[in-house]
Amino acid sequence: MKKTIIALLLMVLVLPGFVSFSSASGKKIIIAHRGACGYLPEHSLEAKAMAYAMGADYIEQDLVMTKDNRLVVLHDHYLDRVTDVAEVFPSRKRKDGRYYVIDFTLDEIKKLKMTEGFSLENNKKKPNFPKRFPLWKSSFEVSTFEEEIELIQGLNSSTGRNVGIYPEIKSPWFHRHEGKDISLAVINILKEYGYTSKNDLIYLQCFDPNELKIIKNKIFPQTGVNVKLVQLIAETDWNETMEYVKGKAVPYNYDWMFEKGAMAEISSYADGIGPWKPMIVKDGSTGTNLIITDMVKDAHSNGMEVHPYTFRLDNGRIPEYAASFEDMLDIFLFKADVDGVFTDFPDRGVEFLRRAMYMKKL
Ligand code: CA
Repeated sequence: MKKTIIALLLMVLVLPGFVSFSSASGKKIIIAHRGACGYLPEHSLEAKAMAYAMGADYIEQDLVMTKDNRLVVLHDHYLDRVTDVAEVFPSRKRKDGRYYVIDFTLDEIKKLKMTEGFSLENNKKKPNFPKRFPLWKSSFEVSTFEEEIELIQGLNSSTGRNVGIYPEIKSPWFHRHEGKDISLAVINILKEYGYTSKNDLIYLQCFDPNELKIIKNKIFPQTGVNVKLVQLIAETDWNETMEYVKGKAVPYNYDWMFEKGAMAEISSYADGIGPWKPMIVKDGSTGTNLIITDMVKDAHSNGMEVHPYTFRLDNGRIPEYAASFEDMLDIFLFKADVDGVFTDFPDRGVEFLRRAMYMKKL
């Protein structure tokens, strides 16, 4: 009894340290998209450490597989947008001119320098976000999934905080076509590092509904893992997810996800959705006339959380209906009532939620 009272007292005393931004739909979270990639090269361990220090609740990992079956943290299943692979291994490109992660061993990938994302314009490298960390400055490298989990868990141990992970299985259709079961590899590592149940601080995300069903119905029972799954939602014409029909890759058709009853269907295999921002607040909205779709309401009534992407500060990335970055967060988190946001600028998201709490919005 005494112990219970002391425990209760302790909870009250330390409560401000565990700031919980609760709302009707649960705790609102800030997810560091590719780390604090507004400030440091995306998916570098440095960007992850910075996101951690900025107070993000979850840190994202995009995962692709190497030739020797290792998982590396990269957004693309190509190496050429963020590394010097074209200079180091010029002869290793495929017919389409791209350098595929799956054609390189981890040792080879570790020899590459990593930088901010760039595109080639007249054979010159131009940064995709000119005001972000400059190209090729300092020293960054591609990291493995294990290295990143150990960084986050190590910080959890040294700070006493408990920051979660938000891994994404990239292009499973491509990996399977190349003979690799990337999902099984990801889930085996999750198990090794103690992410096994829906109570653990992890969301596992994927754009591919076919793969999410394989994970839920086959890999989870086989491995004894059962973590929260998030269905990312794309537009069909992005060619984000492909299916092989008679040996030919065709785009997966996402249209059904925007129809009535879609959220009930998704909730049969997932715990949440990750939609693109305009799927929630329509383009064409104005400051005085926000057009909010039924997606959040339908997802909530089917017991799912909603974490839209991507909240950016860069030029041209704040929709016209929002007066500022913070106004955009306010619209999504409090008017559309989403449960969390993916942002390249986690410090601004964390600060926004803190202020909202002081203003008794939460
Ligand atoms: Ca991602």
